[in-house]
Amino acid sequence: MLILLDKVTSGKDFKELARYLDNRGIEFFVWKDGMNRFVGMAGTLPQEDLERFPFIERVIEDYPPEIERLAEKRIEIKGRTISRDSFTVIAGPCTIDSREELYRTATALKELGIDFLRGGAYKLRSSPHSYQGIGKEGLLYMKEICTELDLVSVSEIISIEDLPLMLEYIDILTVGTRNMQNYRLLSALGETSKPVILKRGMACSIKEWVLASEYIARGGNKQIILCERGIRTFENSTRNTLDISAVPIVKKMTPYPVIIDPSHSSGRRELIKPLAWAAAGAGADGLIIECHHRPDRAKCDAQQKIDITQLKEILEKLPQITQLWSKKF
Ligand code: PEP
Ligand code: MN
Repeated sequence: MLILLDKVTSGKDFKELARYLDNRGIEFFVWKDGMNRFVGMAGTLPQEDLERFPFIERVIEDYPPEIERLAEKRIEIKGRTISRDSFTVIAGPCTIDSREELYRTATALKELGIDFLRGGAYKLRSSPHSYQGIGKEGLLYMKEICTELDLVSVSEIISIEDLPLMLEYIDILTVGTRNMQNYRLLSALGETSKPVILKRGMACSIKEWVLASEYIARGGNKQIILCERGIRTFENSTRNTLDISAVPIVKKMTPYPVIIDPSHSSGRRELIKPLAWAAAGAGADGLIIECHHRPDRAKCDAQQKIDITQLKEILEKLPQITQLWSKKF
């Protein structure tokens, strides 16, 4: 059931409805399309309860096809689907260091059944003295290798000027934590038809993150995947703090698939497995993991990279965990 809220619905009204739904154990999500605010839910409300909420403007019992499509986003790319019904694993190196290194990692991942290859050509590093990636050359390797091995390529766009190039070479564009608030970049991505992974800003609230996704959606591109990658807290035993509660929260606030990055959130190789499993247990729709055929050779973020055997171990238990959420994996 989908309900359309009156345009003047206040925050207090909405909280009352949310409390009512929570108390009845009804799963729901809120979704905005222009000025319209909808609440989609698994289940129906009795007529007398609908009358209790005068701010409900309209009830849509059967979603018209367009609304159904908007209600839960399914992203179709190169014959693969990223959705809330399935579990997607994206893996690969932090940076594309050379054609050979990328090829070796990509073939090993392909053998494990991974369909999505990550790799950064352009990097935004905290220090200008750190390695900044190999640029366009990396995009070329990504395209060649992903075409040869039939993989979906995933890479970060760091600047609006790179958009034409990124669109030509890469299948899924990532907006990294440092650019989550680059609203001109987000709006430009909204005009494209490529799926976008929007990582959470390391010092941004969930609300700011969700609002950032609306910059993309407003342009018409609703192929959005939200990625929790850890936030800055006082805790310094990890690189960032993985906010696992963000998963169920943003799944209520948006219709998009939500994935977790255990690599940048922990910064520590030995934590990737427990965090990846925790993500699947919390209902995440996938993972993006830094993985390398020989992590000690990686030019960037080696300490948080796992090798192929470690990834295999993580994958082996995922069918059991994702089954809790009736996901295909
Ligand atoms: C990355 O995924 O390569 C990356 C730099 O991540 P983040 O933007 O989350 O730090
Ligand atoms: Mn990295």
